[in-house]
Amino acid sequence: METAEIRRRWLSFFESRGHTVVPSAPLVHDDPNLLFVNAGMVPFKPYFLGQETPPYARATSVQKCVRTLDIEEVGKTTRHGTFFQMNGNFSFGDYFKEGAVALAWELVTTPQSQGGYGFDEKDLYASVYHEDDEAIAIWKRVAGLPDDRIVRLGKKDNYWNMGVAGPGGPCSEILIDRGPEFGADRDWEAGDRYLEFWNLVFMQDDLSAVRAKDDFDIAGPLPKRNIDTGMGLERVAYLLQGVDNLYEIDEVFPVIAAAEELSGRRYGANLEDDVRFRVVADHVRSALMLIGDGVTPGNEGRGYVLRRLIRRAVRSMRLLGVDAPTLEHLLPVSKDQMRASYPELERGFGRISQVAYAEEDAFRRTLTAGTTILDVAVTKAKSSGSATLSGSEAFQLHDTYGFPIDLTLEMAAEQGLNVDEAGFRRLMAEQRDRAKADARSKKMAHGDVSVYRQVADSLGRDVEFTGYDEVVSDS
Ligand code: ATP
Ligand code: MG
Ligand code: MG
Ligand code: MG
Repeated sequence: METAEIRRRWLSFFESRGHTVVPSAPLVHDDPNLLFVNAGMVPFKPYFLGQETPPYARATSVQKCVRTLDIEEVGKTTRHGTFFQMNGNFSFGDYFKEGAVALAWELVTTPQSQGGYGFDEKDLYASVYHEDDEAIAIWKRVAGLPDDRIVRLGKKDNYWNMGVAGPGGPCSEILIDRGPEFGADRDWEAGDRYLEFWNLVFMQDDLSAVRAKDDFDIAGPLPKRNIDTGMGLERVAYLLQGVDNLYEIDEVFPVIAAAEELSGRRYGANLEDDVRFRVVADHVRSALMLIGDGVTPGNEGRGYVLRRLIRRAVRSMRLLGVDAPTLEHLLPVSKDQMRASYPELERGFGRISQVAYAEEDAFRRTLTAGTTILDVAVTKAKSSGSATLSGSEAFQLHDTYGFPIDLTLEMAAEQGLNVDEAGFRRLMAEQRDRAKADARSKKMAHGDVSVYRQVADSLGRDVEFTGYDEVVSDS
């Protein structure tokens, strides 16, 4: 089933059950606590927080999301994109646990010939918060799940909160067993055998304090209980398209195919290259969607995330053996896959492609300049009889020329040299601490007590990329 069809079925299913269809918000949303929208509920936050009255009791959407926190997973797991689409259904004081479970189960198990997704019930599991006996009873009664396909998990996986006092509640996830060839029996944590594809959040508790995701105080029940669910569109697509991972679905794979053609290498030949192909396809699409929503490359915050994505894509193509510019070949392919759902990409493609190609050009010049500096450092090291490039040289290459450490490592290795990586990391950490202290003092100066958690947005370009998003991580 095509991704577009999965999306269509989702919206028409929930619309026919009384939900108002709400278009996706842009990736950059008016929320000071988030770099990017990273879950379907984000645009509805004022309703969940009771700050605004929703104009409907039920809503549904397919929301564009970016989670930079998942960047290191891309290509290595089967299931993490930096950009993905979260299908959501929401109840504002309307149906609660039983309604949410019944709707989800119906859509997931109704045969494809009758408009559903047609998953085989025997492969499905539900995870529940271990104290949520009510949810367990509902999964048995409404879905007919036997005990051994209901998994009790703790606060870390199955309790949702926003990192601050306010609404919270247990959640319940639908997992599918992809079979023993994908991992050990009942190993829920690893994630690729028992693939989580839909998370149902039952907002029922009023939290008076949240110290950590799994450390909070419940003051009592919320006056109005809400439902927030999120289903990964790409995850369902990869399951229903019978492919191995989300980089091989219809909306993503054509970029891999184009990269194969450019590089003359074959996807599927070896794992190292496969990860590079997947990174290219994922990052090109994320860059397309981010520029489409108005982000431009820069050295801070959102712009830096975009810059990193483009650089990683270009870099991965170089590791696949292509030194010439490649975005002019890859970006249009990604756009052609996404324009059916996002026609604005077609209209804006002149601007989008200019931004992307200019950034690729700039990075290629950076590589050239950095390479000269690197060559000088290599010659110096060699003539002094050293086999190691110093940490400060690696740091300078990173800081001044934007050389990622893996690039320095690899290029030094080509010259038969090591790099003092520990020294490099020490300098990076020092710089990070300075940036943090700086941000903290900025924040205190503004006396801003409304933030949920430390906002990475105001931190400089030297913050490690992986720490970048998110206030609401688990929808
Ligand atoms: P995982 O444990 O696999 O990282 P998650 O628990 O972080 O997923 P949620 O925050 O519960 O995910 O988001 C709801 C749904 O969104 C998930 O069940 C999944 O289907 C989808 N999803 C989450 N992160 C990603 C991602 N990086 N790429 C694609 N889909 C995702
Ligand atoms: Mg996750
Ligand atoms: Mg999870
Ligand atoms: Mg989850």
